[in-house]
Amino acid sequence: MHTAILNRTSRILGGHLWVFSNELAGSPKALPAGGLVELQDKKGTFLGIGYANPHSLISIRILTRQKEEIGPEFFRKRILQALEYRKRFLGERDSYRAIFSEGDYLPGLIVDKFAGCLSVQILTLGMEQLTDAVIGVLDDIFKPETIVLKNDSQARILEGLNIEKKILKGSLDKLPIMNEGGMLLEVNPMAGQKTGFFLDQAENRAAFSSLVSGGTGLDLFSYTGAWSIKLAKKGSFVTAVDSSETAISQSKRNAELNDVSDRCSFVKADAFDFLKALNLERKKYDFIVLDPPAFVKSKAKLNEAVRAYREVNAASMSLLKDAGLLATSSCSYHLEKAMFMEMLRAAAKDAGKKARVVEMRSQAKDHPISLSVPETEYLKCAILEVS
Ligand code: SAH
Repeated sequence: MHTAILNRTSRILGGHLWVFSNELAGSPKALPAGGLVELQDKKGTFLGIGYANPHSLISIRILTRQKEEIGPEFFRKRILQALEYRKRFLGERDSYRAIFSEGDYLPGLIVDKFAGCLSVQILTLGMEQLTDAVIGVLDDIFKPETIVLKNDSQARILEGLNIEKKILKGSLDKLPIMNEGGMLLEVNPMAGQKTGFFLDQAENRAAFSSLVSGGTGLDLFSYTGAWSIKLAKKGSFVTAVDSSETAISQSKRNAELNDVSDRCSFVKADAFDFLKALNLERKKYDFIVLDPPAFVKSKAKLNEAVRAYREVNAASMSLLKDAGLLATSSCSYHLEKAMFMEMLRAAAKDAGKKARVVEMRSQAKDHPISLSVPETEYLKCAILEVS
């Protein structure tokens, strides 16, 4: 195995899993593309084993700090550890994020389970080269009917990988129907965003719906309707807005599955335009859910993105009745929590409203946040009472 000597070890010794090119003693160009490397400090002390990408800013991602073979047995151990971690809170759930990359000490690997279907995303060159071992072990542990490889993340391009989507096992002739706290949702991993569904908001949906009883509301950037349906099941009337036709038709199907079609209306529109029109009509709502896509894809675009967040948040706050509730989220890692709160403060000012934080939330527990890898924490969800 190739040996990589580190000049700077403090990040790694602090528990982080990434080695940046400027932390290497030699040139990253010497590293094997996607291959395994043993990490050592300058004295030759063993630090761990990872995989390399000489063309990425993150030169090495650590898989283990023990001397062990990286093969099926290693992945079996890691995946079982991930399931063990989830046992504390999963209960009888049939659908959850089984593997969350660095959060489960498996950088570059995402696995979501939607009932009998596994949706797998490989994000890095190193993990790509280990795909066969990973898929074999996943198949053995979960015994799913269907396995989908949903390799269409833009992160793959930075790693020099191609975009591809394929079914590795079974078929999607009949789409999996997952159960989120009693709500049924049909998931299409091949057509959908990310792995097909946003499991990271599951606990936030439950928390928000426990605070809302009846009334009328909006679900902006509604994707396949999970927030709307959750709230409609509690007796609310919800108008959901998304710009994707596919997402809207999937939402309608999901509303039917839950028998709430009469309490939901799904509109294909641009959320920014829709909010402007509602404000002109001086409409008022009891609650609003605002869950936009990651406007901040890179640090460079931060200011532009903050403006977009501020605009939709201010427009939503303006539409709330006195003491109305807003569940507002950002899934952009680059928009740190303090900046998110600052943006909300500015939005409240723009709307001429005051707001109280009923609850500050993050991603669901099946997306573990590693204390030493701050990049694993990305979702912010504030539940605000707006007057
Ligand atoms: N709230 C959803 C996830 C939202 S993902 C859930 O919990 O499942 C973001 C969604 O925003 C996508 O469905 C995408 O189609 C939609 N979208 C992106 N830009 C939009 C825009 N300008 N107006 C309306 N929808 C938009």
